[in-house]
Amino acid sequence: MTAKIIDGTKIAADVREEIRAGVKAMQERYGYTPGLATVLVGEDPASQSYVGMKQRMCQELGIRSIGHTLPADATQEEVEGLVRELNADPDVNGILVQLPLPGHLEEEPVLNSIDLEKDVDGFHPVNIGRLAMKGREPLFIPCTPHGVMVLLERSGVKISGANAVVVGRSNIVGLPVAMLLQKANATVSICHSRTQDLAAYTRNADILIAAIGRAQMLTGDMIKPGATVIDVGVNRVEDPSAKRGYRLVGDVNYEEALEVAGAITPVPGGVGPMTIAMLMKNTLRAAEIALAGRERVAS
Ligand code: NDP
Repeated sequence: MTAKIIDGTKIAADVREEIRAGVKAMQERYGYTPGLATVLVGEDPASQSYVGMKQRMCQELGIRSIGHTLPADATQEEVEGLVRELNADPDVNGILVQLPLPGHLEEEPVLNSIDLEKDVDGFHPVNIGRLAMKGREPLFIPCTPHGVMVLLERSGVKISGANAVVVGRSNIVGLPVAMLLQKANATVSICHSRTQDLAAYTRNADILIAAIGRAQMLTGDMIKPGATVIDVGVNRVEDPSAKRGYRLVGDVNYEEALEVAGAITPVPGGVGPMTIAMLMKNTLRAAEIALAGRERVAS
């Protein structure tokens, strides 16, 4: 068997097109343009590059991008003060604080200080709490987990009643993916570094999500024939033949998995492009929420 490739690049491009159309329709109908504020603290090159990508994507889709940079030695109060200013700014619909913050800063109070209606990363504890509860809906779903769900849905994968196994339980990927899958009526197992006999779980998975951060750890013999495999992992492995001296691989041994799985996401070109597309989708949603609030006040 050769697995079907789930093309994240193509699906993300479709999602971006829908967002571009949504932004245009909002401008035409209400004369309103969504705005995303980014907060970067310090000069970490990877963080600078991620923020730059998000800003460029905003421009591409017609979203206003408002960049704020604070020095690496900014105090907790300065960072939270900036977030409060952005909370109060009606031109800002979404606030994205680029993580990780420098070591002397506490992440949790910064994320908690973001207005719930501007929490486009979806990391506010109230949003996460709603994700966990039956019958409640978060205002925003965290971007990478949301991207995973859209990949499954747009590939026609049956989620309801499926056995789903998520390897990884981080706050930003594993745990919210597991919560979303159970909301969509999958039977979910969450595996992690203390799981005994990981393969016994993964071999039973109709849907297998890998969010571990270990290069090619899940091998072909750990995959159920015909399963759908979503590989969130992004790992560098040395490759002298590559221009940069390394290449990117996922948490799944792709070549082996191709022979066993029914469908699989590649790395790169799978989950990665979805993450930033879902951030833009959340920003458009934040603008819709702000507009609905204005209409309520006006009526
Ligand atoms: P974390 O390091 O926060 O979490 C890793 C998880 O994997 C933990 O729950 C850990 O268990 C578990 N784990 C580690 N080793 C093992 C093992 N041997 N067996 C089973 N479970 C194990 O990583 P993230 O969730 O932040 O990221 C995971 C991967 O996804 C990374 O490669 C990251 O680069 C990538 N990523 C990709 C994104 C994208 O847009 N494509 C976005 C975000 C992340 P425990 O809890 O017990 O420690």
